[in-house]
Amino acid sequence: MCRHLGWLGAPRSVASLVLDPPQGLLVQSYAPRRQKHGLMNADGWGAGFFDSGVPRRWRSDKPLWGDASFASVAPALRSGCVVAAVRSATIGMPIEPSASAPFTDGEWLLSHNGIVDRAVLPLSAVAESTVDSALLAALVFQQGMDVLGDTIAEVGALDPNARLNILAANGSRLVATTWGDTLSVLRLPDGVVLASEPYDDDPGWADIPDRHLVTVAGSDVELTPLKGSV
Ligand code: GLN
Repeated sequence: MCRHLGWLGAPRSVASLVLDPPQGLLVQSYAPRRQKHGLMNADGWGAGFFDSGVPRRWRSDKPLWGDASFASVAPALRSGCVVAAVRSATIGMPIEPSASAPFTDGEWLLSHNGIVDRAVLPLSAVAESTVDSALLAALVFQQGMDVLGDTIAEVGALDPNARLNILAANGSRLVATTWGDTLSVLRLPDGVVLASEPYDDDPGWADIPDRHLVTVAGSDVELTPLKGSV
């Protein structure tokens, strides 16, 4: 189970979101606090951000804690919309940079935290990797982000063992689903953070209930129950 994080708000450095927080993705890569599946996230990482509307990514199949180049450059990468993740590969899945989130269709950046039986997903000629998350991303992109909640509920119905926490952004919107794993939200004066687990002990963090769709636009955070939620 991976861990992911999204930011929508005033421009911030990627380092301030990913590397600097006391329990940020860097620490979560070796000592996550709320991870229910897997012990650590050492199979890769990805940092994506929007630069004048263009999605840009830096991905790796190595542990985040060992990347001195990223640590050096991340303080200089600034954006008002960021999607980052650290990866714990599901057994049998490839470990390669293209299997690390975020995935993209050129408009959205998308991370998947979870697992899904690839047999319930359509074959895709455009998926970036054969990892389950890349096939799921290709399906979500193809169906359209406006029906993300329906797509996740449908995949969840086809594979009852699936865990389908999605986090995606397009520069002006953050959207996420909870389906089998944790997600928390932190509203700050200059923006909103969505994260698999709180990156610090700020009392403002709130847990998102399972099987919900979260939409963040500006400072508005909207929660909608998904089909199949109890
Ligand atoms: N199944 C995905 C992978 O193998 C995501 C794993 C995860 O959430 N830990 O990369």
